[in-house]
Amino acid sequence: MSTILHRYQEILTKIAQAPRPLNQNVQLLAVSKRHTSADIAALYQAGQRLFGENYAQELEQKAQELAHLAIQWSYIGHIQSNKIKKIVHFASEIQTLASLKHAQLIEREAAKIGKTPYPVYIAVNAEHEEGKNGVALEEVLALAEEIASHCHNLKVMGLMAIPPARYSDTLTEAPEIYTMLRQQADKVGQGLLSLGMTGDLNIAISAGSNLVRVGTAIFGTRT
Ligand SMILES: *Cc1c(COP(=O)(O)O)cnc(C)c1O
Repeated sequence: MSTILHRYQEILTKIAQAPRPLNQNVQLLAVSKRHTSADIAALYQAGQRLFGENYAQELEQKAQELAHLAIQWSYIGHIQSNKIKKIVHFASEIQTLASLKHAQLIEREAAKIGKTPYPVYIAVNAEHEEGKNGVALEEVLALAEEIASHCHNLKVMGLMAIPPARYSDTLTEAPEIYTMLRQQADKVGQGLLSLGMTGDLNIAISAGSNLVRVGTAIFGTRT
């Protein structure tokens, strides 16, 4: 088996074995930014359907190259207003929404091409980290309410967060901020939580994550 497929199986096993709240279903988002379409196709053949991309141009190129596969593309990169049309066209959801302005632009593009209701996650910058995208945890509900009242063509799936890197699976239990993210996600839209990457899979799943996003541990180091 190729290295990528081997690592993919290892991550699936790790997810399956991670302790979690009762009956919690956890999905894997394979983060494929700066990895090749050939690698993505290999993972697709092994059964993976959900892939994450961070750059509109790269998303477009891969979605076109792999148009013959039933891939579900998730956009997890920084949002620029002038790229929203492209992102909405090629991605089936956006996980990095952090403003009403972008919500309205996304909804407009989605409505134009009949892709409604369009799924979005609100991105949370849970510890107010400088230079990191997302709204503060205290602002999540206000933004969710604004979106709900102004953007009827969006479907808010829940919250997405990239917590500070110091939180990792060396901890024996989930930090309070993970628990707070879980509680806040329960109050937003469909109540889903996209939380956890390679280094914090276990604590994210134990806190109640529904979706973990893994790149390097499957595809290897990005070029
Ligand atoms: C790149 C990225 C990941 C995956 O990171 P790796 O370190 O490659 O596992 C997960 N989530 C987001 C939002 C990312 O941008």
